[in-house]
Amino acid sequence: MLEVKDLHVTVEDKAILNGLNLTINAGEVHAIMGPNGAGKSTLSAVIAGKDGYEVTQGTILFEGQDIFEMEIEERARAGLLLGFQYPIEIPGVKNIYLLKAALNAQRAARGEGEIPAPEFMKLVREKSAEMKMDPSFLQRAVNEGFSGGEKKRNEILQMLVLQPKLAMLDEIDSGLDIDAMKVVASGVNSLRSADRAILLVTHYQRLLNHIEPDRVHVLVDGRIVKSGDKELALELEARGYDWVLEESAA
Ligand code: ADP
Ligand code: MG
Ligand code: MG
Repeated sequence: MLEVKDLHVTVEDKAILNGLNLTINAGEVHAIMGPNGAGKSTLSAVIAGKDGYEVTQGTILFEGQDIFEMEIEERARAGLLLGFQYPIEIPGVKNIYLLKAALNAQRAARGEGEIPAPEFMKLVREKSAEMKMDPSFLQRAVNEGFSGGEKKRNEILQMLVLQPKLAMLDEIDSGLDIDAMKVVASGVNSLRSADRAILLVTHYQRLLNHIEPDRVHVLVDGRIVKSGDKELALELEARGYDWVLEESAA
């Protein structure tokens, strides 16, 4: 589904990613871990097509297509979706309208008509109940006065409604209490399917107790220096990142 080859990225002439390779197949959940400033958020931002990053070398194929030839909206419509690490506030725009507009844009790109209102309401009610979100939440302006936990739930709600092929979630666990984290994790688990892949960026192992990854990658200094299964996350939790660095330098 996703193939990142020898990716080099600079931000304001500073090298951030330095030859990163990553392959993700449909049906898989991959966790990217690594110390602060390693380039984790940069990787997901570049895949999603955010501005401000210069790709100086390398390729990214999404379902065989070169994503550097696709605009950010095209990537989202193709099913490549990044949640917001620090979701922005959009004053005056109701959450539910934004969800509906995003869903209809996606349908239009597939040549489908707009979703009928009753069908949309049913879908959104069902998914927000799954995320234990109060229906009144949908009528509020996007992220205006949302708590940290509400923003994260909303991010997963968006994924549940839009059903992307590749869902990228950056630090979805940061700032959540244990109950909120379990709700978020169960939302992510319900996204799992044979035709979808999930890329989880996380600094901590605890989320992975609730979302079991197929692969864990350690990103250090702009490259993936080690990959393994879920046991690797436990080892990182116990031993930190230094030993991986020493190993990769040797
Ligand atoms: P991580 O998510 O692993 O903590 P990031 O991808 O956010 O790391 O950042 C990697 C490095 O790139 C950091 O040193 C950070 O300061 C730098 N960086 C990221 N975005 C920008 C930016 N817009 N301008 C300047 N430096 C940036
Ligand atoms: Mg960071
Ligand atoms: Mg980050």
